[in-house]
Amino acid sequence: MILAWVHDVVEGVRSCLTGMRTTGHYLLENLRGSGGATAITREYPEQPAERVGARQRGHLVNDAPRCIVCHACDTACPVDCFTMDGERDADNKMRASRFDIDLSKCIYCGLCVRACPTDSLSMTPAFEVDPRHDGSRFLFRRSSGQLGQRLDAPDVERLQRLADQPRESLAAADRAWLDQHIDPNGPHLIGMYGLGYFTPEQKQAADAAREAKKRAKEAAAAAAKAKAAAAAAPPPAPPPPAGGTP
Ligand code: SF4
Ligand code: SF4
Repeated sequence: MILAWVHDVVEGVRSCLTGMRTTGHYLLENLRGSGGATAITREYPEQPAERVGARQRGHLVNDAPRCIVCHACDTACPVDCFTMDGERDADNKMRASRFDIDLSKCIYCGLCVRACPTDSLSMTPAFEVDPRHDGSRFLFRRSSGQLGQRLDAPDVERLQRLADQPRESLAAADRAWLDQHIDPNGPHLIGMYGLGYFTPEQKQAADAAREAKKRAKEAAAAAAKAKAAAAAAPPPAPPPPAGGTP
């Protein structure tokens, strides 16, 4: 019994020292770097992060013109982030007429991205939300009629300035401009933007990755189809016996 007690005390001290060693390591790094690249705590946005893991789940983006309103993401989402409506287009295909993601509820689990059959939903490793860092953004917004617009930094600054004011107090020109760019019923900026955003380069990279994934899927499906066809084909007829029939 005493041995068990001593063992517990030793284990407790050892785990405490292990934790303190990790804390001390980062404390020293921060002191040495004075908030440099190795620091864990950074003063955002003055000191943007320099290292982000490749698997980071940053912005959740829906390229809604690809969406077929199948509700698979809606079913997969554990916290009911999605609200969507669909309509048939001229080719009788389902398209999203409304696609909202309530990012204030989202826990960035990525389940919706895995469920999406058309790859219209994706998570980017990007985390930057301040357009002043790189000038412009593609904003993906609440309804498909507003999708794919490019907003440059002055537009975003104007949006932020106007969106913070009561609608009634806006000048008519500002109100009209705001209505063109956002859903007037959006409760706050994230709600209004709704779907996340890319820089032009990130959008290009995401489109290329999506196309590559689609081509790989199609190649795999074609290979599987060819294999199934080969398995279903009747076996070749046996060669006629040597010498032929009398
Ligand atoms: S990433 Fe967000 S929206 Fe997608 S399933 Fe998870 S909680 Fe829902
Ligand atoms: S799973 Fe994909 S295609 Fe289906 S509704 Fe969601 S975003 Fe649209």
